[in-house]
Amino acid sequence: MAFEGLSEKLNHVFKKLKSRGKLSESDVKDAMREVRMALLEADVSYKVVKDFVAKVSQRCVGEEVLSSLTPAQQVVKIVNDELIALMGNDNARINMPSKPPCVIMMCGLQGSGKTTHAAKLAKYLKREGHRPLLVACDIYRPAAINQLMVVGEKAGVKVFEMGQIDPVVISTQAMRYAKDYGHDVVILDTAGRLHIDEKLMDELKQIKAKVEPNEIMLVVDAMTGQDAVNVAKAFDEALGIDSVLMSKLDSDTRGGAALSVLAVTGKPIKFVGMGEKLDEFERFHPERMASRILG
Ligand code: GDP
Repeated sequence: MAFEGLSEKLNHVFKKLKSRGKLSESDVKDAMREVRMALLEADVSYKVVKDFVAKVSQRCVGEEVLSSLTPAQQVVKIVNDELIALMGNDNARINMPSKPPCVIMMCGLQGSGKTTHAAKLAKYLKREGHRPLLVACDIYRPAAINQLMVVGEKAGVKVFEMGQIDPVVISTQAMRYAKDYGHDVVILDTAGRLHIDEKLMDELKQIKAKVEPNEIMLVVDAMTGQDAVNVAKAFDEALGIDSVLMSKLDSDTRGGAALSVLAVTGKPIKFVGMGEKLDEFERFHPERMASRILG
Protein backbone atom coordinates (compact mmCIF):
# COMPACT_ATOMS: atom_id res chain seq x y z
CA MET A 1 0.00 0.00 0.00
CA ALA A 2 1.18 3.52 -0.80
CA PHE A 3 2.86 5.71 1.81
CA GLU A 4 4.04 2.85 4.04
CA GLY A 5 7.65 3.99 4.25
CA LEU A 6 6.73 7.67 4.40
CA SER A 7 4.24 7.08 7.17
CA GLU A 8 6.77 5.14 9.23
CA LYS A 9 9.47 7.77 8.82
CA LEU A 10 7.24 10.75 9.59
CA ASN A 11 5.91 9.03 12.69
CA HIS A 12 9.44 8.46 13.84
CA VAL A 13 10.24 12.18 13.42
CA PHE A 14 7.12 13.24 15.31
CA LYS A 15 7.73 10.74 18.12
CA LYS A 16 11.14 12.26 18.65
CA LEU A 17 9.65 15.78 18.70
CA LYS A 18 6.96 14.76 21.17
CA SER A 19 9.53 13.33 23.56
CA ARG A 20 11.16 16.74 23.83
CA GLY A 21 8.36 18.80 25.27
CA LYS A 22 9.35 22.38 24.50
CA LEU A 23 10.83 22.90 21.05
CA SER A 24 13.53 25.26 19.85
CA GLU A 25 13.93 26.56 16.34
CA SER A 26 16.80 24.18 15.83
CA ASP A 27 14.66 21.18 16.90
CA VAL A 28 12.19 22.17 14.21
CA LYS A 29 14.97 22.59 11.70
CA ASP A 30 16.32 19.10 12.42
CA ALA A 31 12.86 17.62 12.15
CA MET A 32 12.27 19.36 8.82
CA ARG A 33 15.49 17.94 7.47
CA GLU A 34 14.17 14.46 8.24
CA VAL A 35 10.75 15.26 6.75
CA ARG A 36 12.52 16.39 3.59
CA MET A 37 14.49 13.12 3.38
CA ALA A 38 11.37 11.05 4.00
CA LEU A 39 9.48 12.81 1.18
CA LEU A 40 12.38 12.45 -1.24
CA GLU A 41 12.67 8.75 -0.42
CA ALA A 42 8.93 8.43 -1.09
CA ASP A 43 9.75 9.70 -4.60
CA VAL A 44 8.00 13.05 -4.30
CA SER A 45 9.26 15.56 -6.93
CA TYR A 46 12.27 17.52 -5.75
CA LYS A 47 10.72 20.94 -6.24
CA VAL A 48 7.50 19.87 -4.57
CA VAL A 49 9.49 18.70 -1.53
CA LYS A 50 11.46 21.94 -1.41
CA ASP A 51 8.34 24.12 -1.51
CA PHE A 52 6.48 21.90 0.95
CA VAL A 53 9.26 21.92 3.55
CA ALA A 54 9.75 25.68 3.17
CA LYS A 55 6.05 26.28 3.79
CA VAL A 56 5.85 23.92 6.76
CA SER A 57 9.08 25.27 8.30
CA GLN A 58 7.88 28.83 8.03
CA ARG A 59 4.65 28.01 9.85
CA CYS A 60 6.40 25.84 12.47
CA VAL A 61 8.88 28.43 13.71
CA GLY A 62 6.04 30.89 14.31
CA GLU A 63 5.48 32.13 17.85
CA GLU A 64 2.24 30.20 18.41
CA VAL A 65 3.89 26.85 17.76
CA LEU A 66 7.08 27.25 19.73
CA SER A 67 5.38 28.85 22.72
CA SER A 68 2.44 26.44 22.70
CA LEU A 69 2.01 23.82 25.42
CA THR A 70 1.99 21.03 22.84
CA PRO A 71 4.39 22.22 20.13
CA ALA A 72 4.99 18.79 18.59
CA GLN A 73 1.26 18.33 18.08
CA GLN A 74 1.09 21.71 16.38
CA VAL A 75 3.85 20.63 14.02
CA VAL A 76 1.92 17.45 13.16
CA LYS A 77 -1.18 19.52 12.51
CA ILE A 78 0.70 21.87 10.19
CA VAL A 79 2.18 18.94 8.25
CA ASN A 80 -1.29 17.43 8.01
CA ASP A 81 -2.79 20.70 6.68
CA GLU A 82 -0.04 21.13 4.14
CA LEU A 83 -0.29 17.51 2.95
CA ILE A 84 -4.00 18.05 2.33
CA ALA A 85 -3.28 21.30 0.48
CA LEU A 86 -0.68 19.47 -1.61
CA MET A 87 -3.23 16.89 -2.76
CA GLY A 88 -6.12 19.35 -3.18
CA ASN A 89 -8.21 21.06 -0.56
CA ASP A 90 -11.54 20.51 -2.17
CA ASN A 91 -12.78 17.07 -3.07
CA ALA A 92 -12.74 17.18 -6.83
CA ARG A 93 -15.77 15.72 -8.59
CA ILE A 94 -16.68 15.12 -12.21
CA ASN A 95 -18.31 18.19 -13.72
CA MET A 96 -21.70 16.93 -14.84
CA PRO A 97 -23.21 19.21 -17.48
CA SER A 98 -26.76 20.46 -17.05
CA LYS A 99 -27.59 18.89 -20.40
CA PRO A 100 -26.58 15.20 -20.71
CA PRO A 101 -24.74 13.23 -21.87
CA CYS A 102 -21.59 13.95 -19.92
CA VAL A 103 -18.64 12.84 -22.01
CA ILE A 104 -15.60 11.55 -20.19
CA MET A 105 -12.57 10.89 -22.35
CA MET A 106 -10.19 8.44 -20.72
CA CYS A 107 -6.59 8.64 -21.90
CA GLY A 108 -3.36 7.05 -20.86
CA LEU A 109 -0.37 5.04 -21.91
CA GLN A 110 -0.76 1.35 -22.67
CA GLY A 111 -0.72 -0.71 -19.50
CA SER A 112 -1.63 2.23 -17.26
CA GLY A 113 -4.90 0.52 -16.38
CA LYS A 114 -7.09 2.66 -18.63
CA THR A 115 -9.50 -0.03 -19.82
CA THR A 116 -9.92 -1.54 -16.36
CA HIS A 117 -10.56 1.90 -14.93
CA ALA A 118 -13.00 2.92 -17.64
CA ALA A 119 -15.11 -0.02 -16.42
CA LYS A 120 -14.49 0.76 -12.74
CA LEU A 121 -15.61 4.35 -13.28
CA ALA A 122 -18.67 3.17 -15.23
CA LYS A 123 -19.63 0.81 -12.41
CA TYR A 124 -19.11 3.55 -9.83
CA LEU A 125 -21.28 6.01 -11.75
CA LYS A 126 -23.94 3.37 -12.30
CA ARG A 127 -24.10 2.86 -8.56
CA GLU A 128 -24.58 6.62 -8.22
CA GLY A 129 -27.68 6.35 -10.37
CA HIS A 130 -26.28 7.17 -13.82
CA ARG A 131 -26.68 5.19 -17.05
CA PRO A 132 -23.15 5.09 -18.46
CA LEU A 133 -22.12 3.90 -21.90
CA LEU A 134 -18.61 2.57 -22.46
CA VAL A 135 -17.16 3.23 -25.91
CA ALA A 136 -14.36 1.19 -27.48
CA CYS A 137 -12.09 3.73 -29.20
CA ASP A 138 -8.87 1.75 -28.74
CA ILE A 139 -8.96 0.28 -32.20
CA TYR A 140 -5.34 -0.72 -32.71
CA ARG A 141 -5.50 -3.96 -30.77
CA PRO A 142 -8.59 -6.16 -31.33
CA ALA A 143 -7.83 -7.55 -27.85
CA ALA A 144 -8.49 -4.12 -26.37
CA ILE A 145 -12.06 -4.10 -27.73
CA ASN A 146 -12.66 -7.61 -26.37
CA GLN A 147 -11.19 -6.62 -23.03
CA LEU A 148 -13.58 -3.68 -22.77
CA MET A 149 -16.51 -5.95 -23.67
CA VAL A 150 -15.51 -8.35 -20.89
CA VAL A 151 -15.05 -5.71 -18.18
CA GLY A 152 -18.15 -3.86 -19.37
CA GLU A 153 -20.20 -7.00 -18.94
CA LYS A 154 -18.75 -7.53 -15.46
CA ALA A 155 -19.69 -3.98 -14.59
CA GLY A 156 -23.16 -4.45 -16.05
CA VAL A 157 -22.61 -1.55 -18.45
CA LYS A 158 -23.37 -1.45 -22.17
CA VAL A 159 -20.31 -1.30 -24.44
CA PHE A 160 -20.57 0.48 -27.79
CA GLU A 161 -18.13 -0.75 -30.42
CA MET A 162 -17.77 -0.55 -34.19
CA GLY A 163 -14.66 -2.66 -34.62
CA GLN A 164 -11.42 -1.20 -35.89
CA ILE A 165 -12.64 1.90 -37.71
CA ASP A 166 -11.75 5.58 -37.24
CA PRO A 167 -12.17 6.38 -33.53
CA VAL A 168 -13.47 9.85 -34.36
CA VAL A 169 -16.35 8.22 -36.22
CA ILE A 170 -16.90 5.75 -33.38
CA SER A 171 -17.08 8.49 -30.78
CA THR A 172 -19.52 10.62 -32.78
CA GLN A 173 -21.74 7.60 -33.47
CA ALA A 174 -21.56 6.72 -29.77
CA MET A 175 -22.83 10.19 -28.89
CA ARG A 176 -25.86 9.66 -31.11
CA TYR A 177 -26.42 6.21 -29.61
CA ALA A 178 -26.23 7.63 -26.07
CA LYS A 179 -28.83 10.28 -26.90
CA ASP A 180 -31.13 7.76 -28.58
CA TYR A 181 -30.92 5.22 -25.76
CA GLY A 182 -30.87 7.53 -22.76
CA HIS A 183 -27.30 7.15 -21.55
CA ASP A 184 -26.41 10.22 -19.49
CA VAL A 185 -22.66 9.47 -19.30
CA VAL A 186 -20.41 8.45 -22.19
CA ILE A 187 -16.99 7.05 -21.28
CA LEU A 188 -14.55 6.89 -24.19
CA ASP A 189 -11.79 4.29 -23.81
CA THR A 190 -9.21 5.83 -26.15
CA ALA A 191 -6.07 4.15 -27.49
CA GLY A 192 -2.94 3.95 -25.42
CA ARG A 193 0.60 3.74 -26.73
CA LEU A 194 3.82 2.65 -25.15
CA HIS A 195 5.14 6.19 -25.39
CA ILE A 196 3.65 9.60 -25.90
CA ASP A 197 3.96 10.32 -29.59
CA GLU A 198 2.53 12.80 -32.03
CA LYS A 199 0.23 10.28 -33.68
CA LEU A 200 -1.40 9.39 -30.37
CA MET A 201 -1.84 13.04 -29.46
CA ASP A 202 -3.21 13.96 -32.90
CA GLU A 203 -5.83 11.26 -32.65
CA LEU A 204 -6.83 12.36 -29.15
CA LYS A 205 -6.97 16.00 -30.30
CA GLN A 206 -9.27 15.03 -33.16
CA ILE A 207 -11.64 13.19 -30.82
CA LYS A 208 -11.53 16.11 -28.40
CA ALA A 209 -12.37 18.61 -31.15
CA LYS A 210 -15.24 16.50 -32.42
CA VAL A 211 -17.01 15.43 -29.22
CA GLU A 212 -16.00 18.30 -26.90
CA PRO A 213 -15.67 16.13 -23.79
CA ASN A 214 -16.76 17.50 -20.41
CA GLU A 215 -13.83 15.82 -18.77
CA ILE A 216 -10.51 14.57 -20.09
CA MET A 217 -9.28 12.14 -17.49
CA LEU A 218 -5.76 10.79 -17.64
CA VAL A 219 -5.03 7.39 -16.14
CA VAL A 220 -1.52 7.10 -14.72
CA ASP A 221 0.13 4.16 -13.01
CA ALA A 222 1.17 5.06 -9.45
CA MET A 223 3.89 2.42 -9.54
CA THR A 224 5.82 4.40 -12.15
CA GLY A 225 6.42 7.20 -9.63
CA GLN A 226 7.81 10.38 -11.14
CA ASP A 227 7.27 9.02 -14.66
CA ALA A 228 3.55 9.15 -13.92
CA VAL A 229 3.92 12.82 -13.05
CA ASN A 230 5.91 13.51 -16.21
CA VAL A 231 3.31 11.71 -18.33
CA ALA A 232 0.58 13.85 -16.75
CA LYS A 233 2.53 17.01 -17.49
CA ALA A 234 3.16 15.98 -21.09
CA PHE A 235 -0.49 15.04 -21.73
CA ASP A 236 -1.64 18.28 -20.19
CA GLU A 237 0.69 20.35 -22.34
CA ALA A 238 -0.17 18.51 -25.56
CA LEU A 239 -3.88 17.81 -25.11
CA GLY A 240 -5.08 19.59 -21.98
CA ILE A 241 -6.40 17.34 -19.23
CA ASP A 242 -8.96 18.08 -16.53
CA SER A 243 -8.11 15.43 -14.00
CA VAL A 244 -6.02 12.42 -13.15
CA LEU A 245 -7.09 8.93 -12.18
CA MET A 246 -4.27 7.19 -10.37
CA SER A 247 -4.26 3.43 -10.83
CA LYS A 248 -2.42 0.70 -8.92
CA LEU A 249 -2.06 2.62 -5.68
CA ASP A 250 -2.27 -0.79 -3.99
CA SER A 251 1.01 -1.86 -5.58
CA ASP A 252 2.89 1.38 -4.98
CA THR A 253 4.73 1.48 -1.67
CA ARG A 254 6.07 5.02 -1.97
CA GLY A 255 3.22 7.33 -2.91
CA GLY A 256 5.36 10.06 -4.46
CA ALA A 257 3.27 10.38 -7.60
CA ALA A 258 0.06 10.91 -5.64
CA LEU A 259 1.74 13.69 -3.67
CA SER A 260 3.30 15.42 -6.69
CA VAL A 261 0.66 15.43 -9.45
CA LEU A 262 -1.38 18.45 -8.40
CA ALA A 263 1.61 20.63 -7.57
CA VAL A 264 3.37 19.81 -10.85
CA THR A 265 0.41 19.85 -13.25
CA GLY A 266 -2.24 21.91 -11.46
CA LYS A 267 -4.71 19.08 -12.17
CA PRO A 268 -6.39 17.18 -9.34
CA ILE A 269 -6.51 13.45 -8.80
CA LYS A 270 -10.21 12.58 -8.79
CA PHE A 271 -10.14 8.79 -8.42
CA VAL A 272 -7.75 6.05 -7.38
CA GLY A 273 -7.56 2.39 -8.32
CA MET A 274 -6.62 0.06 -5.51
CA GLY A 275 -6.61 -3.35 -7.17
CA GLU A 276 -7.55 -5.38 -10.22
CA LYS A 277 -11.17 -5.97 -9.19
CA LEU A 278 -13.80 -3.54 -10.41
CA ASP A 279 -14.83 -2.55 -6.89
CA GLU A 280 -11.29 -1.70 -5.86
CA PHE A 281 -11.81 1.90 -6.77
CA GLU A 282 -12.62 5.04 -4.86
CA ARG A 283 -12.85 8.78 -5.03
CA PHE A 284 -9.63 10.49 -4.04
CA HIS A 285 -9.96 12.09 -0.62
CA PRO A 286 -6.94 14.27 0.24
CA GLU A 287 -7.88 14.39 3.95
CA ARG A 288 -8.14 10.60 4.18
CA MET A 289 -4.84 10.21 2.36
CA ALA A 290 -3.17 12.67 4.73
CA SER A 291 -4.47 10.84 7.77
CA ARG A 292 -3.34 7.56 6.26
CA ILE A 293 0.15 9.04 5.90
CA LEU A 294 0.20 10.43 9.43
CA GLY A 295 -1.67 7.34 10.66
P1 GDP B 1 -4.58 -0.40 -20.39
O1 GDP B 1 -3.60 -0.99 -21.36
O2 GDP B 1 -4.15 0.96 -19.96
O3 GDP B 1 -5.99 -0.43 -20.85
O4 GDP B 1 -4.44 -1.26 -19.04
P2 GDP B 1 -5.34 -2.43 -18.46
O5 GDP B 1 -6.63 -1.91 -17.98
O6 GDP B 1 -5.36 -3.54 -19.44
O7 GDP B 1 -4.48 -2.84 -17.18
C1 GDP B 1 -3.14 -3.31 -17.29
C2 GDP B 1 -2.87 -4.31 -16.16
O8 GDP B 1 -2.89 -3.65 -14.89
C3 GDP B 1 -3.89 -5.42 -16.06
O9 GDP B 1 -3.23 -6.62 -15.77
C4 GDP B 1 -4.77 -4.99 -14.90
O10 GDP B 1 -5.38 -6.09 -14.25
C5 GDP B 1 -3.78 -4.30 -14.00
N1 GDP B 1 -4.40 -3.26 -13.17
C6 GDP B 1 -5.23 -2.26 -13.58
N2 GDP B 1 -5.59 -1.47 -12.56
C7 GDP B 1 -4.99 -1.97 -11.45
C8 GDP B 1 -4.96 -1.56 -10.07
O11 GDP B 1 -5.56 -0.57 -9.62
N3 GDP B 1 -4.19 -2.33 -9.24
C9 GDP B 1 -3.50 -3.41 -9.66
N4 GDP B 1 -2.76 -4.08 -8.78
N5 GDP B 1 -3.48 -3.80 -10.95
C10 GDP B 1 -4.24 -3.10 -11.84
